[in-house]
Amino acid sequence: MDVGPSVQDTLALVYRLQSIDSELAHITQEIEASRDALHRREESLEALAQLMESERNEILRLARDRRDREEELRTNEHLISENKKKNKELKHSREIQAYLAEMEFRRDEVERLQDEILRIMETQENLEKALKDREKDFAAKQEELSAFRTAAEEESGSRMDRIRGLEEEKTLLADQFPDPLFQQYTRLRQSHRNGLVVSRILNGTCEVCRMTLPPRTLTEVKKRQKIVPCLHCQRWLFMEDAQPRS
Ligand SMILES: [Zn+2]
Repeated sequence: MDVGPSVQDTLALVYRLQSIDSELAHITQEIEASRDALHRREESLEALAQLMESERNEILRLARDRRDREEELRTNEHLISENKKKNKELKHSREIQAYLAEMEFRRDEVERLQDEILRIMETQENLEKALKDREKDFAAKQEELSAFRTAAEEESGSRMDRIRGLEEEKTLLADQFPDPLFQQYTRLRQSHRNGLVVSRILNGTCEVCRMTLPPRTLTEVKKRQKIVPCLHCQRWLFMEDAQPRS
């Protein structure tokens, strides 16, 4: 493409534009990463809150279970003491046998219920202790999240400032070179990997694809009469001025 004698200036502008676009893309990625990190922290805290909620429910359920068994235990103990009173009135061996069987059954029940109540109490204690630890952990994580959120908001503010500055500079730059070139740049930016359209020549190699450029290409670029693409990656080759031109 022939862009006249100002090809070097134009390429310098396009290169600057590309740097701005790359920085903008980078900042956008940073903003998204920060948002994702915040989201992940919120989710993990939410999961912890749900876990605590289910543990609290389990503790309540255990307390109800325990109350039921205590009630049952009292009933059995009451029956045992009532039976004891009737004991003296029993005369027939069949009655006495029935009495003994009933008492054995009640005593087994008492023993079973006492065991169950102890087991429930143990589970309650363990769960309450675990919940207390989790609540401590939750409070610490909540504080962490709030500090993280504040820092993220501050960072986001300075990133937005930077974006505004870059967008302004980009508008000024875009005004400085011909529309077709800008459109071509925009198109190539979307099709090229990394969004790189312009590549600097560093020590005779293309900065983007790192291939050594043939001397003929270098000579053409140095003539600065037209845009010369890299033979390997097709990016516009740009040679920065070694010293300011007069
Ligand atoms: Zn290249």
